[in-house]
Amino acid sequence: MRSTSRSQVRGKEMLPKPKPKEQRQHSATKEAVADIEDLFSDKEIHKIRASLLDWYDHNQRDLPWRRITQTKEIPVKEEEGEGEGERRAYGVWVSEVMLQQTRVQTVIDYYNRWMLKWPTLHHLAQASLEEVNEMWAGLGYYRRARFLLEGARMIVAGGDGFPKIVSSLLKVPGIGDYTAGAIASIAFKEVVPVVDGNVIRVLARLKAISANPKDKVTVKKFWKLAAQLVDPHRPGDFNQSLMELGATLCTPLNPSCSSCPVSGECRALAISKLDKLVLITDYPAKSIKLKQRHEFSAVCVVEISGRQDLIEGDQSNSVFLLVKRPDEGLLAGLWEFPSVMLGKEAALTRRRKEMNCFLKKSFRLDPQRTCSILLREDVGEFTHIFSHIRLKVYVELLIVHLKGLKTLLFLCKCLFALQLLFYQVFKFQNISGVIVG
Ligand code: SF4
Repeated sequence: MRSTSRSQVRGKEMLPKPKPKEQRQHSATKEAVADIEDLFSDKEIHKIRASLLDWYDHNQRDLPWRRITQTKEIPVKEEEGEGEGERRAYGVWVSEVMLQQTRVQTVIDYYNRWMLKWPTLHHLAQASLEEVNEMWAGLGYYRRARFLLEGARMIVAGGDGFPKIVSSLLKVPGIGDYTAGAIASIAFKEVVPVVDGNVIRVLARLKAISANPKDKVTVKKFWKLAAQLVDPHRPGDFNQSLMELGATLCTPLNPSCSSCPVSGECRALAISKLDKLVLITDYPAKSIKLKQRHEFSAVCVVEISGRQDLIEGDQSNSVFLLVKRPDEGLLAGLWEFPSVMLGKEAALTRRRKEMNCFLKKSFRLDPQRTCSILLREDVGEFTHIFSHIRLKVYVELLIVHLKGLKTLLFLCKCLFALQLLFYQVFKFQNISGVIVG
């Protein structure tokens, strides 16, 4: 990791001259020395720890996952081994997973609802995936919810209580270095660091690190710096103070350096004062965003009517087809109206052709032979943006009446074989809610 020095900022002519050949043999030693120079000094460590903890004690936001009020309301079952640490660990885990890719303000409501429904790990372990997905709807990245459920089941089945150290936490599905560090330090006081986007930003500015923060070697060094700083007596509070600073003062675009408790130790601030060409926001270096790819899909809301004629608004004898998506990939394991990917932008005729093929092949719904169409109309289109995909969805409504018992029986068979669900639903206007959660 290279800290930006003024010589680097000023230009090529001020860069150090290449080293003579005989000096290169000592490169390993020199690298080690450079490495040590990149670390915090003891004086800096003490100052940063004390300043940040004091600031955190007076300024931390009141967030539900920082309280353990649930412990008072729900009696602890001794046989389940859920003491205060476990309760805290569960809360930290759920909140940290929710906070990945989602803003704090949005997460607060989700977290409170989640904790009301599943206040302990044991409650969660008994939930079904459908219930968990329903609760998660709107947060996106549903794999995270599935991992929470699988992780809870695994911990409860293990019978040894919540893992308390990073190495054991990493064995739980969906728990990576960051979440493990957060749980172990906040709930169980293990002296371990955490490194997330906020921490990287603060460290990159404190040390004026200009290297690409996504680069593996650089990430490793951020962990090393964070490990140096973590307070041995209050590891959880210290880690939270570092994240809190990044979330509230040391923000990506408008850092509030005048209110910052560690401004005296901040190299980016010092450099920017000396050289007007350098901005604090130059740190960390911006990584190049992946280009979103465009995808197109046709969705058909298939209503199977019990009537042979169409009476507008009467769905009392109707059922709808919902299909479960594959267990891997985008929106894995979620239920959706029948959909087909189109490959590229497509006109209505082609979309219907593709959809007809899919319905015929998967469910034997064939307007020529097995069903009669009561209504088929284009409903509209919308674009849903995932982090890496821009998905344009064309939606149509198809109301059919089945011609014979054979098709009905086949659909019933699909219920098990193709994971087709007959779902008595009356809120089908809310299509995007079902499709994208
Ligand atoms: S002084 Fe400014 S840039 Fe440096 S850590 Fe504080 S808020 Fe961030």
